[in-house]
Amino acid sequence: MTVKEKYFELLDKVKEEAQKKVSASGKKKVYYVSAEFLIGKLLSNNLINLGMFDEVKEELEREGFSIYDIEEAEPEPSLGNGGLGRLAACFLDSMASLGIKGDGIGLNYHYGLFKQVFENNCQKALPNPWIEEKSWLTKTDVVYDITFGDIKVKSRMYDIDVVGYDNRTNKLHLFDVESVDESIVKEDSIDFDKKDIKKNLTLFLYPDDSDDDGRLLRVYQQYFMVSNGARLILDECRAAGSNLHDLYEYAAIQINDTHPTMIIPELIRLLTAEGISMDEAVEIVSKTCAYTNHTILAEALEKWPLSFLEKAVPQLVPIIKELDRRVRTAFDDKSVYIIDDNDRVHMAHIDIHYGYSVNGVAYLHTEILKKEELNNFYKLYPEKFNNKTNGITFRRWLLHCNEELASFITGLIGDGYKKDSAQLSKLLDFKNDENVLMRLNEIKHNNKVRFADYLKKTQGIDIDADSVFDVQVKRLHEYKRQQMNALYVIYKYLEIKKGNKPKTPITVIFGAKAAPAYVIAKDIIHLILCLSELINNDPEVSPYLKVVMIENYNVTKAAKVIPACDISEQISLASKEASGTGNMKFMLNGALTLGTMDGANVEIAELVGEENIYTFGADSNTVIEHYKNHTYVSKDIYNGDELIKNLVDFIVSSDMIRLGDKEMLTRLYKELINKDWFMTLLDLKEYISVKEKALADYEDRRAWAAKALVNIAKSGFFSSDRTIAEYDKDIWKSRK
Ligand SMILES: *Cc1c(COP(=O)(O)O)cnc(C)c1O
Repeated sequence: MTVKEKYFELLDKVKEEAQKKVSASGKKKVYYVSAEFLIGKLLSNNLINLGMFDEVKEELEREGFSIYDIEEAEPEPSLGNGGLGRLAACFLDSMASLGIKGDGIGLNYHYGLFKQVFENNCQKALPNPWIEEKSWLTKTDVVYDITFGDIKVKSRMYDIDVVGYDNRTNKLHLFDVESVDESIVKEDSIDFDKKDIKKNLTLFLYPDDSDDDGRLLRVYQQYFMVSNGARLILDECRAAGSNLHDLYEYAAIQINDTHPTMIIPELIRLLTAEGISMDEAVEIVSKTCAYTNHTILAEALEKWPLSFLEKAVPQLVPIIKELDRRVRTAFDDKSVYIIDDNDRVHMAHIDIHYGYSVNGVAYLHTEILKKEELNNFYKLYPEKFNNKTNGITFRRWLLHCNEELASFITGLIGDGYKKDSAQLSKLLDFKNDENVLMRLNEIKHNNKVRFADYLKKTQGIDIDADSVFDVQVKRLHEYKRQQMNALYVIYKYLEIKKGNKPKTPITVIFGAKAAPAYVIAKDIIHLILCLSELINNDPEVSPYLKVVMIENYNVTKAAKVIPACDISEQISLASKEASGTGNMKFMLNGALTLGTMDGANVEIAELVGEENIYTFGADSNTVIEHYKNHTYVSKDIYNGDELIKNLVDFIVSSDMIRLGDKEMLTRLYKELINKDWFMTLLDLKEYISVKEKALADYEDRRAWAAKALVNIAKSGFFSSDRTIAEYDKDIWKSRK
């Protein structure tokens, strides 16, 4: 039997076991509707949650298999971009683990997000098929006819079991179009006919939206998702005894960012078609739907031209106009209208007016929503606004990805923390225990060796497990400021060239996909890859500094690099990262955070205390004032500081141009000097000095381990079990 055959055999077995835990308890069901569910590989996690992992692992060994080889044979479903999609996956795990009746609703993208490869120091995007002859998907007989303005399609629902930890099994419902056609995707590329909706509708997650055809396709996808979702919800609630007038007693619908917003007008449309009056339909839906905001970046707040909706979903247009009319009657503040003067439909405005809850995803983010971005709405509906600081599932991000640490912790404090994450604080008792601290360092080292082996095997790159692992892995975006880290790398390279060698060598590890249409983001990847080539091949420097970029960063790779990290880079421009969840995964695995006071970093700092975290940079108020008053001028900083000027100039130095693409490097160089919208140069100097401080502190191995221990001990707050318990208590009230 091959490894693949063994994997398929286990897949069937796990599906069978999972089915035994599907239960119907409770009247109200939570529906988490999301365009993304970045679930990652499922085999080992499902085995852990079913309590079968150790037993299956041993049995496999007796048969001559390794569970880790079998994991490699499983494809990763890439049904999400990054944090938002991964959050949805963690939430499904926690709902099932807490015994909450709650299903996910999304789309069955055949290729999901693209697969990233590096070629000539650039990102290349390839399709990433993940559905094999056998997969976690189960075909159901739930089918609907979905009508658009110009076409009709048939849908079908596929289910993935969501196995809770020592608890119930819920479902992730993924809708697919029956007429989908993978063959329209051109060989080795992610190009396809964006107008052929019947064939392309569920091929890709977030097709390129740099043109109108791509944007329109997103509207089709969104409506397809919510129309199916709305009909499933109404069917299930009716079957459970609802007369639809009491829908909100049977369903709580969480709208994950604005992508599923059309579920509001769609539900109203379906309810009025059942004979319910418009007034009542609006009221029912408003008591059923709740909205989560994930960003304050203006470009990410969706606004669809009315003309797109008229083409794709004309049946919703009169309803959206009616919802807008009601807003205009009630309020005379233009900024809260749904349809603006340019006939653009503000999706978030629909959610806020016609949902009963609006939540941000970290304390600082929610405060900024209330005080700045959504202040006009907050003044109208203060009672709707609430915070739910994000979390991560500890099953995947500790028990699965760091078995050695998890078993060490279990040995110290028992295994109560697996279900009650707050118990991790018992670890504080060992803060001065020399043996515990040395063992923590040893586990970290073992994880670094494992990651170094993995990198060698997958990308042929050698890194030194005795170096400091400094890791920035997340989507590539200017606000996350990978470019600032790259400028640090240039700084360190030039220092070493001058003879200032670090005591312990440093390995700077990046991993990031850039949206294929995001030009500057791809330029930043190019910069990093060129630096990597320059530095790793320089015999004077490479013994002390290495730069690597993990190819195709995804959940699988996250689970391998995070346990191996010493320094967690969370360096977004303050006010821009709504929460971050990568920051939490690193903390849980004993890395120290080097970060700005942004997103959930603020809460991490509060929990661990300033001696156990490295913070720097302008605070969110300063940044917000700069934007308001246009007082940040990067060119002034560049011209006024010799060091900064040298570092930025290096991007277009002859060494770099020799290795890279002159046009790309020059574009990035000019962007930093002339625009630098996310204020890289503002924080650069302080970033360098605080990073140097962290590296110096690393030399005291015992003190470092004590800091790591405090981080692990205080991370219990960031379990998604805590987050989901709060959603249920404050928003869904599924268990009253
Ligand atoms: C957790 C996670 C993210 C989110 O990382 P941030 O640092 O919070 O942006 C993105 N991608 C993957 C694969 C993840 O696991």
